[in-house]
Amino acid sequence: MLRRLFIYGSSPQVHVPTDPDGTRKAMKQEHYRVVVLGSGPAGYTAAIYAARANLKPVLIQGNQPGGQLTITTEVENYPGFPEGLQGPEMMDRFRRQAERFGTRFVQGDVVSAELGKDRHVLRTADESLSCDALIIATGASARLLGLESEKRLMGHGVSACATCDAFFFRDKKVLVVGGGDSAMEEATFLTKFASSVTVVHRREGFRASKIMLDRARANDKIDFIVNAVIEEIHGDPSAAGVTGVTLRDTVTGETRRMDCDGVFMAIGHTPNTGLFQGQLELDDKGYIVTEPGSTRTSVAGVFACGDVQDPVYRQAVTAAGSGCMAAIDAERWLEGTA
Ligand code: NAP
Repeated sequence: MLRRLFIYGSSPQVHVPTDPDGTRKAMKQEHYRVVVLGSGPAGYTAAIYAARANLKPVLIQGNQPGGQLTITTEVENYPGFPEGLQGPEMMDRFRRQAERFGTRFVQGDVVSAELGKDRHVLRTADESLSCDALIIATGASARLLGLESEKRLMGHGVSACATCDAFFFRDKKVLVVGGGDSAMEEATFLTKFASSVTVVHRREGFRASKIMLDRARANDKIDFIVNAVIEEIHGDPSAAGVTGVTLRDTVTGETRRMDCDGVFMAIGHTPNTGLFQGQLELDDKGYIVTEPGSTRTSVAGVFACGDVQDPVYRQAVTAAGSGCMAAIDAERWLEGTA
């Protein structure tokens, strides 16, 4: 399973829709008790719970309905599906379950958000939605190298989540890109399955903590290539998937081909919180800060769930669990009991 690529508008600018003659477009405006922003496991689960609590939620899906799981292949670690299922099918099931209990869906990106004292207002290109309670489930995006071949082979040998996909690389040769704790952790985890793991890092110094780096260095299955970047990933998504990469030495500029069966990106994540900068308390990495043991944020009536507030676990099942918490927290807050 491969996750996290769900990108919402990253800047809080206000876009005012206009007709072709430049006049301001009449915007549909509605008020709701609960709006859920985001359509990954956290958002859909929040909608299921809010709908079953008769709160008639609206869920804004973004431009990639279903989020990152829709660009995933097989999901094998979500409990309750012993045979596994395809990511897009899984998200379709989540969506239908939310729909069954009366969730209304709005497609499109939110271009501005105003978090207020009494109500919160979100605007898409054609709609203005205000609500009493807002549940933010906009996820976090894995940072990627930005290569065309990386995009083409995503889910076919390229992955950004070893916990999700390592299982598919039993006795295979894989690369891990990055020099931080995630790269060390993912490389070490991958050795449980892969025959060999090579960490490719762009410079000699590592950002990883000493203990994580030492652990990776002590592992016989892990090799390191430093001062190197991947210039190209080779392979065919309709055949064997990834077959190798072209590496460039960042010191000499020389390039060489290296065979491998998989490439794991571990170069960090970016939480999708651009819309809320300056309005919500964020941590130093940009994740939404929630109260311990709850999904409440620094603004009353605004709740956050899933990867947008979770730099640690980042799994579909943990996101769904926190989506359930957010709906229950929102319901209690609306009742005035929280
Ligand atoms: P990180 O610390 O930001 O490290 C990202 C790594 O990727 C860096 O080595 C960086 O290289 C490299 N990188 C970034 N962009 C790149 C690019 N375009 N091409 C090639 N390499 C690139 O991210 P992280 O490892 O995900 O860790 C994030 C936070 O979570 C950290 O605070 C970390 O300690 C924590 N974490 C903790 C644990 C744990 O304790 N178990 C596990 C995972 C993460 P440069 O160094 O050259 O910038």
